[in-house]
Amino acid sequence: LFVTLEGGDGSGKTTQAARLEKWFTDRGRTVVRTREPGGTEVGQLIRDIVLHHRGDVAPRAEALLYAADRAHHIATVVRPALERGDVVIQDRYLDSSVAYQGAGRVLGRDEIRDLSLWATGGLLPDVTVLLDLDPHIARARLDAADKPFDRLEAEARSFHDRVRAEFLALAEAEPDRFLVVDASLPSAQVGEIILSRVAALG
Ligand code: C5P
Ligand code: MG
Repeated sequence: LFVTLEGGDGSGKTTQAARLEKWFTDRGRTVVRTREPGGTEVGQLIRDIVLHHRGDVAPRAEALLYAADRAHHIATVVRPALERGDVVIQDRYLDSSVAYQGAGRVLGRDEIRDLSLWATGGLLPDVTVLLDLDPHIARARLDAADKPFDRLEAEARSFHDRVRAEFLALAEAEPDRFLVVDASLPSAQVGEIILSRVAALG
């Protein structure tokens, strides 16, 4: 079972991934909880480049770095785990690239999606949870949690609006794969909604 969590910064992906992991391990399943960018040692190096040099990396180079991180991560961590029958719970996957590089950086939806599918040999999640949240609320949450520098500070409001709109458009285009959840709801309630969908597949 391959579950991905998507959504803007501060939408609660990490919290909900931890909740899902606990639900599955409590039921005796082996869970691999992982993330992109940076789910491998090589990926950590790539993560450092894309996050710490974000202003200096040309948009197409940025897209290729995310794709390289993804190709390595899927080949060395995710596919082997799925072949063992483990549950993979992953914070961000190809939809993030389509939203951030495709829409945010305006590189195009089809191009970025095709790049990711080439990088991964066409691997798509069984379920993708989209935690949808207004970037204003996300900003307030990150401030309250005293989170350090992140994309919300680095990019204009319009960037985040494009990212959010693209995530929603992707969910609309693939309603069978996506579960869209209102991430402004209390965290426990968001967790219940996610479980009501994912538990049936476990
Ligand atoms: O989710 P996480 O905090 O690990 O993401 C790190 C940063 O990388 C975030 O600020 C996110 O906006 C950005 N990002 C991106 N393009 C992606 C994935 C993440 O710009 N494809
Ligand atoms: Mg996070």
